[in-house]
Amino acid sequence: MNIHEYQGKEILRKYGVAVPAGRVAFSPEEAVNIAKELDSKVTVVKAQIHAGGRGKAGGVKIAKNLDEVRSYAKELLGKVLVTHQTGPEGKEVKRLYIEAGSDIQKEYYVSLLVDRATSRVTLMGSEAGGMDIEEVAEETPEKIFKEVIDPVVGLTGFQARRLAFNMNIPTKLINKTANLMLGLYKAFTDKDASILEINPLAVTGDGEVMALDAKFNFDDNALYRHKDVVELRDFDEEDQKEIEASKYDLNYVTLDGNIGCMVNGAGLAMSTMDTISFYGGRPANFLDVGGGATAEKVTEAFKIILSDPNVKGIFVNIFGGIMKCDVIAEGVIVAAKEVGLKVPLVVRLEGTNVELGKKLLNESGLDIVAADSMADGAQKIVELVG
Ligand code: ADP
Ligand code: MG
Repeated sequence: MNIHEYQGKEILRKYGVAVPAGRVAFSPEEAVNIAKELDSKVTVVKAQIHAGGRGKAGGVKIAKNLDEVRSYAKELLGKVLVTHQTGPEGKEVKRLYIEAGSDIQKEYYVSLLVDRATSRVTLMGSEAGGMDIEEVAEETPEKIFKEVIDPVVGLTGFQARRLAFNMNIPTKLINKTANLMLGLYKAFTDKDASILEINPLAVTGDGEVMALDAKFNFDDNALYRHKDVVELRDFDEEDQKEIEASKYDLNYVTLDGNIGCMVNGAGLAMSTMDTISFYGGRPANFLDVGGGATAEKVTEAFKIILSDPNVKGIFVNIFGGIMKCDVIAEGVIVAAKEVGLKVPLVVRLEGTNVELGKKLLNESGLDIVAADSMADGAQKIVELVG
């Protein structure tokens, strides 16, 4: 789960991490009032969307007076911001963060993440901050330093100071920076985060070290023990189909192709996507309806696929083990009758109650193309979609 920058900074404040003063605004009036209160030399008006790259896309504005705060707020609210992380459709700005402007001397990069290679939390830092870290990793990898953290010991002061030193933080600010890193690590582990990225971490003219941006990503499997984090969820930022799917406990991820897939089991779902790709098609989603799904759950899953305007054909690929083929057939039939089926549907059923499932589908009057195998089904749907 992701949260907004302003929410992330709110968490960081509680862990003693220095961030500029600021508050969230939903209207230009609110923005101006907050700027008045902040009473800083310059005010930064920042679009709040769940994506980075806002600066380059015109989503971060520096206002020199209250009139500028008002006009930037007006300009940004309601605007669809397209950054390199939003995809071409962009994201509508509905909230702003009004923040005191910092006198930046230099921008650095710091992040914490769970590193799959070492199975440990890793602290990363670089003096090449403010820009795309992917670019830095590609072009000047020697400028990125890492500290692998022992889960029993936690991040040590020694490691934090070593990283700050490697990042070329000015000598007299090494301890301050190390303390900030310890605060970041505490926040990261306390909240079961999977990513915490500060880009940029800024050293200011008056000798402060501050987080000017904050990107948090939380481990969904641990959210049950963080009610405070769950409350920060912003449904406007999430894919409607994925929200719907999560209500029914379906494992659904939207993709950018045009073949809707309904499959049981994550492994089969992935091989189905691979097979579709092999025959030249592109899946519109990943969907694992799970082992013991009810007809109602299957109905909802099928409706979610049908609600996607990008879907030009559907491939149902079921290997009935615990899941029974007739339950799948029932769900498909109910959903197709309720919402209407306007795209080609290829069905491959195998396993428990397969004969009954096929019979139900045959008698349903739906226009269904039967497939004998996964490869056969994938080929057929790719052909039908064209
Ligand atoms: P994004 O990563 O989405 O582009 P950031 O929060 O990193 O957004 O802001 C982009 C740039 O704007 C920063 O690299 C920094 O130069 C500038 N900036 C952001 N916040 C402030 C601030 N409070 N004071 C001064 N400059 C800021
Ligand atoms: Mg940033």
